[in-house]
Amino acid sequence: MEVNGLDSDGRQFKNAGEMWREQIGEEGEGEQQQQHKKTQWYREGISYWEGVEASVDGVLGGFGTVNEADINGSEAFLQTLLSDRFPNAGKNQHLVALDCGSGIGRITKNLLIRYFNEVDLLEPVSHFLDAARESLAPENHVVSDMHKAVNFFCVPLQEFTPDTGKYDVIWVQWCIGHLTDDDFVSFFKRAKVGLKPGGFFVLKENIARTGFVLDKQDRSITRSDLYFKELFSRCGLHVYKSKDQKGLPEELFAVKMYALTTEMPKRVHKTRSKVQANRPCIIK
Ligand code: SAH
Repeated sequence: MEVNGLDSDGRQFKNAGEMWREQIGEEGEGEQQQQHKKTQWYREGISYWEGVEASVDGVLGGFGTVNEADINGSEAFLQTLLSDRFPNAGKNQHLVALDCGSGIGRITKNLLIRYFNEVDLLEPVSHFLDAARESLAPENHVVSDMHKAVNFFCVPLQEFTPDTGKYDVIWVQWCIGHLTDDDFVSFFKRAKVGLKPGGFFVLKENIARTGFVLDKQDRSITRSDLYFKELFSRCGLHVYKSKDQKGLPEELFAVKMYALTTEMPKRVHKTRSKVQANRPCIIK
């Protein structure tokens, strides 16, 4: 990424390379030293969240009030995607989702469990995952026998590989900023294999106006739309649809939803021959 960026203290970086070299080490630095810095990056991210209360307010950085707008925006986006790609959802198709960086299970509980028959949750911070397990337990959250949270994986994204062909949708929201660029790319490459045919990713994230913003407190970076698109292309993923989240307080970052597919979206092109074929002409 050749655009400059900032950190949370307002310090400028020439480009993402400069920031990453500082955060997770330089190539010439030696394998061990680099590994140490990267471990440190991830450790600090986790320990930040370990100090946060397991509540909606906690996982939303004190903005619990945005929960409703967030869920409504996601639901509208998901509905169009499901009706495009899985027209039989809700009739006879058994749908399975994975909620990545699920925190306390806010998205599963308020959204995914209503649309998917099975939802797995992945969350590296154990007190969040325990809260999710508890609040989604059948005795506390009755949806129906046909809709349930099944597996609770306590691992970070950079160490996770899903079972082959298991998921219709892999939902990744407000957690990918913790991953370095290389881990971002290798996570999505591994996770692609976890999608069923026709399956897709939803990535919902804060968006920087340009370049990136490094948050030194929780060790995460907010990327620009262009930065994301460069990474999607490294992952071999295509933007099938995207939408801006509306109705969030002005002081927050803009938020975008991307639906990502492994195959190139089929665009409806009105080619010349089609247009001509549809108008009256002489039968030869
Ligand atoms: N997606 C949830 C939680 C957002 S808070 C929601 O929208 O409600 C950010 C979450 O990312 C926290 O639960 C945090 O523990 C998790 N996280 C931090 N580092 C991560 C990593 N390396 N892999 C996966 N999740 C991570």
